[in-house]
Amino acid sequence: MEDRRKLNLLVILFLISANVFVWQALFNLGLNNSLEVMFFDVGQGDAVFIETPHGHQILIDGGPDSKILEKLAKEMPFWDKTIDLIILTHPEKDHMAGLLKVLERYKVEQILWTGIIRNTADYNKWQELIEKEKAKTTIAEASQKIEAGRVSFNILYPFESLEGEEFKNSNNTSVIAQLIFGNNSFLFTGDAAKSVEKKILSRCKEDVNCLLDSDVLKVSHHGSKTSTSEEFLREVSPKIAVISCGKNNPYHHPHQEVLKNLEKFDIKILRTDQNGDIKVTSNGIDYKVK
Ligand SMILES: [Zn+2]
Repeated sequence: MEDRRKLNLLVILFLISANVFVWQALFNLGLNNSLEVMFFDVGQGDAVFIETPHGHQILIDGGPDSKILEKLAKEMPFWDKTIDLIILTHPEKDHMAGLLKVLERYKVEQILWTGIIRNTADYNKWQELIEKEKAKTTIAEASQKIEAGRVSFNILYPFESLEGEEFKNSNNTSVIAQLIFGNNSFLFTGDAAKSVEKKILSRCKEDVNCLLDSDVLKVSHHGSKTSTSEEFLREVSPKIAVISCGKNNPYHHPHQEVLKNLEKFDIKILRTDQNGDIKVTSNGIDYKVK
């Protein structure tokens, strides 16, 4: 009798743990009806990980080094070594170097970038790795729309393909994209400067379908004063501004002028150097910050 009771207990414990595993697996498949946008604290650089309600995983930039691998390991289940889409906003070290590590470690299904040419060791490595990866590659151009279930990305910039053009500084070639899920929207701006913001604003004025209005703005160029003009902020009118920058970075990002402008418009400021990883979740109706 005693042995039988022990056996029963073991069976029950096994069933409970099996059940937990099933639930965990379901949860990891992303069947949780929410969109998660994670602004990783990768020091001085950008890396944003997005998981859609259908479980699509998207990575915008990879930060300056291998720190991205630790961050992804925390967000993705250990057996999941596939990323659906990588967006490289522009091939500068603080956005691209981490993606080289990701390409070496993960299977990447799709890549969206500008296809511009640069002359750096990291850039050559990027070219070599994406060729090896055999992912479906798309050259970013305004008016493209990427759909991932109920979530979509609208590409706003560059206006036309820059493929094959060479740039010494690629900040102003940054892919600018708006992520939309139901009522909620996020604007990703790479490192684009005020001159690009101006071009987008004037193009948007002529296009009735162009809506820059977004709940969350990834502040351009780590909060440098060369980006984030008042006119741009007025049009985007975000509730939350996320600044991705390193603690005590040598560029003194974010700049006081940008912080003041954000405060003037009553925009809540979140900073990776102060808040660490920042997660915004949306159910398509409203959003929450963690
Ligand atoms: Zn940057």
